[in-house]
This record gives sequence, structure tokens and C-alpha cells, in this order.
Amino acid sequence: MRATTRARIRVARLRRLLMGLLALVAAATATACTGTEEQPRVVVTTNILGDITRQVVGDQAEVTVLMKPDADPHSFGLSAVQAAQLERADLVVFNGLGLEENVLRHVAAAREAGVATFEAGRAVDPLTFRTGADGGPEGESGQPDPHFWTDPDRVRTAARLIADRVSEHVKGVDDAAVRANAARYDEQLEDLTAFMEQSFDRVPEDRRSLVTNHHVFGYLADRFGFRVIGAVIPSGTTLASPSSSDLRSLTRAMEKAGVRTVFADSSQPKRLAEVLRTELGGGVRVVELYSESLTAENEGAATYLRMMRANTTAMTDGLAVGSPKGTHS
Ligand SMILES: [Zn+2]
Repeated sequence: MRATTRARIRVARLRRLLMGLLALVAAATATACTGTEEQPRVVVTTNILGDITRQVVGDQAEVTVLMKPDADPHSFGLSAVQAAQLERADLVVFNGLGLEENVLRHVAAAREAGVATFEAGRAVDPLTFRTGADGGPEGESGQPDPHFWTDPDRVRTAARLIADRVSEHVKGVDDAAVRANAARYDEQLEDLTAFMEQSFDRVPEDRRSLVTNHHVFGYLADRFGFRVIGAVIPSGTTLASPSSSDLRSLTRAMEKAGVRTVFADSSQPKRLAEVLRTELGGGVRVVELYSESLTAENEGAATYLRMMRANTTAMTDGLAVGSPKGTHS
């Protein structure tokens, strides 16, 4: 008798416990569901596009940027959590044209899962890498150049299209607020273009020659009338490395053009400087630029506008100030 009563009490307790647990699980699931529905979310791959998207979106949605400050867009990868964020987004904004090599398959997976995606590079009339006497990345002729942000006019187009996509795909945003943000940012970009034009006007025609660490500034060269003499890494990606014959042909091109200033990405200037000093026997000035990543706050290029203004000043000073001393050694 006693044993049966005890067993019954135990069963009843277990049942209460189970019911309680089930209620908890149900409550947690309900919160999770309303949580994702209430917060519209835009996920952006690169930090440059992340800043541009934030300017346009403002406080209308949560913007998650996957690439960290001071990272290399060609080589950064995603954590499992970030890959999951991509698949839950209302809209994914990515550079594309092959830039984010380790991320593009995740973007494709999100698109296949029904997430709206926007490939900014593809939408702004991309240029292709050039080859030939001026020196483009050899063997990559005809490939689209992903570095479109070095032309602020193309960024204006991208920002406008991002605003369109946000209005179209992200539910719950106030269209008028997004339009107002986009209009304000467009004015700032227009000012940037004017600043760049005025600055580069100080550089004489015959000194508008660029040598960079890899082929990052094709769009800037095209927009503002510079010649790209060559790149230390003769490729459109940082993932390649220069051979000694690549370096010899670059130094020959530099000597022929009388170029003594090399623009390097601020994240890898030392390696570049050492390589070129060895090849040219000194006399080469290496000027650091922020070419394809924003920095952390307070480090010189925390926004796209600040990055472009800092680069414009560094390029203008590097090319316009001081004539190169005799090209022969
Ligand atoms: Zn690049």
C-alpha cells in the first residue's frame, strides 16, 4: 500500500516537472520567434560597405558587419555564428566580383535559402582589370575588378541602390527616413568627389602615376586621370605573391616612368618597402594608404569618408611635393 502511494506521488511530481519544463520551452521559443520578427536585420560582408549601409539605414534596422576593422577583405572568413547570421538576415549586402573569397559561398547559401542579397560591385558598372604596357594584373584580363569603392561616384550609386533594396526587402523600416539618410549621405559623397578633384588638381599631369601593393586603385585612376604603372603583387588579390621577375619588370617600369613613390596598404607596408628597397637600391618612398579596410575608431579611417579623405591627402602630398631626384642612380 505504502509503496504504491509513494510511487503515485513520484509520478505526479514528475508530471508536474515535465509540464513546467514544456511551458518553459514553449515560452522561450515564442520569445525567440517574436525577437527575430521584431528586429529587421541587414548583414553586410565588408566593413567599407558596412559603413555605407549604416549611413543609409540609420536607426531603421540592425546592421551587422562581418569583416573586422583592419582585416583583409580577400582573406577574412566567417565563424559558425556569423554564417548563421547571414541565413537569418532580411537583406545581405556584399561586395562580390570575387572580393570576399572565403565568404561568397555563404552568401550563395543564404540566397538559396531565400534571403534577399545585393551584390554592390556588380551593380555599379564594374571595370575589368587591364593588361598591357601600362601594367595590369597579367593573366586576369577581362576579370571584373572588385575594388569599386576607390571611385566615390560609384559609391553614390551603390548607396542609392542599397536604400532601394532596404525599402524593398526589410519590413518595418520607415521609407521616408531611409530616403532622408540616403540623400544626406549622397551630399557628403558629392563633397568628397569635389575634394578629391580639387586635391588631385595639384598633382602635375606627368606625375599622376600610381604604384601600389596590389591592384586596388584602378577605379580611382580611371575616375581621376591617373596611370597605373604596376603593383608589387601583380594581381587583383592580396592572396598572390610576387615573383622576382614580376619585381624586376615593376622596377623597370618605375624607372622608365620616373616613379619614386609607392602606395602601400597600411596593414602591410613593411614587407612591401623591404622588397622594393632591395630591388631599387633605396630612394623609394613608401606612402601608407588605407586601401581596402576601415580601421578601428580613432585610428584614421573609421569611416569610408575619412578613409578617402586621408588617402587623397596622402596621395596628393606623396606625388605633388618634392620632385624625384634623378632617376638614374
Ligand atoms: Zn584588393
